[in-house]
Parts: sequence; C-alpha cells; structure tokens
Amino acid sequence: MIVIDGAEGEGGGQVVRNACALSLVTGTAVRITNIRAKRSKPGLMRQHVTAIEAACAIGNATCEGLVVGSCDLTFRPGRVVAGDYRFSVGTAGSTGLVLQTVLMPLLLADAPSRLVLEGGTHNMLAPPFEFIDRCFLPVVRRMGGQVEARLIRHGFYPRGGGRIEVDITPGSLQPIACLTRGAPVSVSACALIAALPLSIAEREIAMVRKAFDWSDRECFVRELPVDQGPGNILLLEARFEQATEIVSGFAQLGVTAERVAKTAIGRMRGYLACDAFAGPYLADQLLLPMALAGGGAFTTVKPSEHARTAAAVIERFTGRRTRFVQQAGGTHAVTIA
Ligand code: AMP
Repeated sequence: MIVIDGAEGEGGGQVVRNACALSLVTGTAVRITNIRAKRSKPGLMRQHVTAIEAACAIGNATCEGLVVGSCDLTFRPGRVVAGDYRFSVGTAGSTGLVLQTVLMPLLLADAPSRLVLEGGTHNMLAPPFEFIDRCFLPVVRRMGGQVEARLIRHGFYPRGGGRIEVDITPGSLQPIACLTRGAPVSVSACALIAALPLSIAEREIAMVRKAFDWSDRECFVRELPVDQGPGNILLLEARFEQATEIVSGFAQLGVTAERVAKTAIGRMRGYLACDAFAGPYLADQLLLPMALAGGGAFTTVKPSEHARTAAAVIERFTGRRTRFVQQAGGTHAVTIA
C-alpha cells in the first residue's frame, strides 16, 4: 500500500483525487493521511466525498474514513467497470472535480461510459465547465482519448443544481508534445449572469474593454434563466491554433464587479505576456493524463505548487518522473518521462 502525507506540497483536495484515480488505474491501494491539512477547514468536504464515492462506484473500491471532515482515508481499488453513472455532489461542489477523479480510469477501461454529474459547474477554486470543455479535453483528445462533455444546466455556489454529461470512449493514449501555441485565432470575454442585476456583468465587460483592445463582438453578456442563479462569472478566452486558455473571475458576495474583472484580466495578461502552451491550471491538470499516456511534454508559465504536488503523487504510483526546466524568457518546459 502506498501511504501519502496529504500535508506535503500543496496540501489540497487534488492530492486525494489524483491518488484515487491512480489507485484505480494501477490497482494499488493507498492511504492518505493529513487530508487537506493546509486548508482553513481541513479534511474531506462534501465534494471530495462525492468524488471518492464516484471512484468507488466505477472501480468497485472499498474505503475507510470516507466521511465529511475525515483527515485519513484508505482506498482499496477493485476492477474499473465502464457504464452509465450518475453522481450528484448535493451541494454546489464542483462537477469538474468529480470528473477529474473518474475520467482517466474510465478512459482506460474496456468499454464506453456515460456520466451525468450534478452540482456546481462554475465554482471558485475549480475548473469552470468551459475550461474543461475547451482547454483541457481538446488536449486529452489529441492524446487519443475520445471524450465529449455537454453543459445541460449551470450550477453556481451556493445553490448548485447544475448538470453536465460526459461521454467517454476508451482508446489507446499516446504521448504528445504541446510546446507551442501556434498563431492567435480569436479572443472573447463572456460575463455569465443569472438572477442578478445585468449591470454587474456589464461593468465586468466594460473593464475588459478598457483593458484590452477587444471589439464589441468579442465581449458580451450572457443572461441565463433565473432558475439557474443567482450566479455570475467572467470568462476570458484566448484561442490559438494549438492551445486555448480560459481564465475566470468568480463573483462573490461583497466583491465588486470591477475586482472580479481585474482578477480575470490580470490572469489573461499573464498568459498573453508569455508564449507557453498551458496556463497554470491546465499545467497541473495535464500531468495525470500525460503520465498515463506513457509520457508527454508541454510548456507552461511558472509551475504551481499544485503541479509539483501532482507530479510527486504521480511518481509514487507510476515511477514516472516529471521535470520542470526553466527556459529563457521565464517559461518552463515540463517533461514527463
Ligand atoms: P484543489 O485546490 O487541490 O482542490 O485543486 C483544485 C483544482 O482545480 C486544480 O486542478 C486546479 O487546476 C483547478 N482549478 C482551480 N481554479 C481553476 C480555474 N479558475 N480554472 C481552471 N482550473 C482551476
């Protein structure tokens, strides 16, 4: 059994999700101690419990310590069985993070699967649906994984109630190198808003127009049905021939529209100022599929603690080492052996 100290490195929920996914794929049991020790509320939250329950369901795994608040989890994997699954986070916990846990085991299974995931689709500290669909999955498809995701209904914190559907068809994954972005293709700014004054979204878009030389056609407000709110997120997208980056500003009670926009604008400026393939979030999320594809390489901005921690967990299960090498100009080359 592999024992992982969840307090090491970044110390968040991603350690648990990656460990369960790797446990299912490699058939190795894992115990994780000090779960989310570096978070203000340590231990498993509802969304982590759902993600692990999902891993148990698809992989006939058994678990000890699988309750909200638990800081110590033992996960014993069984055989991964493809099929139709529905997992509901219950609160507005992120559907994207549940997907992160079960995607790779199902992609390496022996038959297609369909997932229905219910909960939050646009949560803080998690990949929004558009990021999964347009930044992450295209790279997985390039490796040979056939995955299609659909957003059926938006879910914002705290109400949740969102729904995504994902079709996964296994295929053999190949190592790929994602070193350059290619030429610019398009940019866009979309302020999603539901059951809140439209002026919030308009102020966010006004900030984007001030910051970037983007046209009216490229910057828009999208009003969602009232029953999908309340919620608001600003999504800024830059598409290149080979890469897409989507950065977000998440609305929060007590945070002005201008501040939300400023966060997203700062993130987009950071990405546009360099020529790396992957932004910081995509970088940590690509490591698992690349390692399971037998290796891979990409360029990114400065690697985050999430990325370094994911690399360490992957190495424990697979023996595959990830190298982060700083290049001239400040970007980093990431190579998974
Ligand atoms: P953790 O903080 O350990 O629960 O992990 C959060 C996961 O969500 C990581 O894989 C991050 O890359 C991802 N993530 C967080 N915020 C964003 C965002 N704004 N866009 C895309 N991915 C995100």
